[in-house]
Amino acid sequence: MALRALPREVDLLPHIAFVSKLLFAACAAAVLVLPATKAKPKTTATTAKQSVSRTQNRWLFFTSDMTDPKQVDQVIARFPAAQAAGYNGVVFSFDVAKEKAAELKSAARRYGLDIICTVMGGAHDRNYVEGIPVKDALYVVHGGTAIHQPDNPTQVQNGDFEATAGDKFLGWGWQDDVGVTTFADHDVVHGGKTSLRMESIAKNANGLCRIVQPIKLQPHRQYHISVWIKTEKLSPAVPEIKVLTNTPQNCVSWQTFHVDPTQDWKQVDLVFNSFDETAASLYLGFWGGKSGKIWWDDLKVEEIGLVNVLRRPGCPITVRGEDGMVYREGQDYEKIFDPQFHPWIPWRGASPTIKLTADSRIKNGGRLRVSYYHPISIYEDRISFCLSEPKIFDDWREDVKRANELLHPAGFFMSHDEIRCMNQCAQCRSMNMTAGQLLAWNVRKAAAIIREVRPDASIWVWNDMFDPQHNAVDHYYAVNGTLAGSWKGLDKDVGIVNWNGGLMGKNCKFFADLGLKQILSGYYDSDENGASQVVYMAPASRNGWTKPNPSPASPAPCTQPGRRNTTPCPPGPRKPGAPLGGNGHSLRSQCWVNLEQLLQAEDQ
Ligand SMILES: [Zn+2]
Repeated sequence: MALRALPREVDLLPHIAFVSKLLFAACAAAVLVLPATKAKPKTTATTAKQSVSRTQNRWLFFTSDMTDPKQVDQVIARFPAAQAAGYNGVVFSFDVAKEKAAELKSAARRYGLDIICTVMGGAHDRNYVEGIPVKDALYVVHGGTAIHQPDNPTQVQNGDFEATAGDKFLGWGWQDDVGVTTFADHDVVHGGKTSLRMESIAKNANGLCRIVQPIKLQPHRQYHISVWIKTEKLSPAVPEIKVLTNTPQNCVSWQTFHVDPTQDWKQVDLVFNSFDETAASLYLGFWGGKSGKIWWDDLKVEEIGLVNVLRRPGCPITVRGEDGMVYREGQDYEKIFDPQFHPWIPWRGASPTIKLTADSRIKNGGRLRVSYYHPISIYEDRISFCLSEPKIFDDWREDVKRANELLHPAGFFMSHDEIRCMNQCAQCRSMNMTAGQLLAWNVRKAAAIIREVRPDASIWVWNDMFDPQHNAVDHYYAVNGTLAGSWKGLDKDVGIVNWNGGLMGKNCKFFADLGLKQILSGYYDSDENGASQVVYMAPASRNGWTKPNPSPASPAPCTQPGRRNTTPCPPGPRKPGAPLGGNGHSLRSQCWVNLEQLLQAEDQ
């Protein structure tokens, strides 16, 4: 579920976890999930409507920004067709524009649609994102201000790509296909006289085109990578910068970035934490490149300090002199904060400074060691929230109550998915749990909050973080400790929404054996305005699954997202604007075929 894509320039409110870039819900499928395993496929909305059972959940999932009244109107406008197509539930964010709530609720009732609210996507205060520790960053005092100073500065050799021997760049340890796909370009440059050009990458059988060099790191420090990039008809336009390590985690920098297929020189800024590494390999390039050109120039890797520093109880800051003297905030130095704080914007040009108070005990020229916590992005803009701060649960309780008062939903959908940074801050570490235990503890508390407010409502959660065949594994991104055992936090009254179509049903048994009800997720469906996700239920029982009928005349199956692939299916046959349920096909009926295969696999 790529549902945690967060807009970068908006305030961090809980609803945002479900406001993806795809803001508008789409038309859904007309082919229904029917309860009978041997029923003839029904293709008309009328007969299907008569056949559906209320014991099955056939939900239409909206990713709309429900705080926007216009988008609420667009959601409501889909209800008649959703009912006609056999849906009996709609899922959307709890955070609904207050003035539209009554209308939304009554429209859902009129069209026989249960409301399921997504909740627990995040905290109300963006300081409550998960923080990675920085230990003993060096700050030196100059005239009442302490300024960050990298110690043992990380050196990138030939980062300006000026030193060459033919097409080979000096100082770089490895360069794929010198003079075939990687070139020294003396005509197109950002600075100096030379840049690195990569082109026609398909000449490499594996689509690999990389330049690599070893770099030294100070452990537990914050780093900034900056490079200038120009492109021309680049396909696919997915260059990557990786900082890889010889550890089971394999990596300390998961942040990706966007480039256009054709663009003039633009600067890319990434921020990572070195964790406990002293050395790594810096990679620039492609894993699966094809055609077009890209130029790289003026690369820099530098240690930075206090960028997006988090201020919350579980992320304490300590400032001490190199003689061990511990200084106090408010007494020796003014409150530390990043004036440009925004977890979704990793770098805004400078490390914050520390202002000393008038009567500070810190002397001019003093060398300070500063420890603090900062967030990291996984992929372009995915940030995870802390799982253990008490305030998180207060926020969630408030959200559930708000949803209950405005909409009285039939169910609540907990947004515990794709949590890629976990168990890192002081508060989380003080729990002395593995990441799996911590997540189990968190989700148990989360379900208890829902029951406290609404004992009769159903509770649902995505499968991925609780699934040993999906994300509940060892060495998962920036997760500290194994995620195994996270599923122990789920009781039989929490339902699983299983979106791993890539496993073709192989993970269904795991949750069935735990006694959990399951919904099989039908994946993305979209129209000209954006996307929604269609979710179907295959009723759970220990004896297997009720098989839905396949879409008639469906095209060939498509590949569904796997563990790290959240790419939507390709566009289907439906024309933009065609009425919902009008032609007997899903917008992406390929996906229905895949769902069918998934269930067949489960039957065997
Ligand atoms: Zn935490």
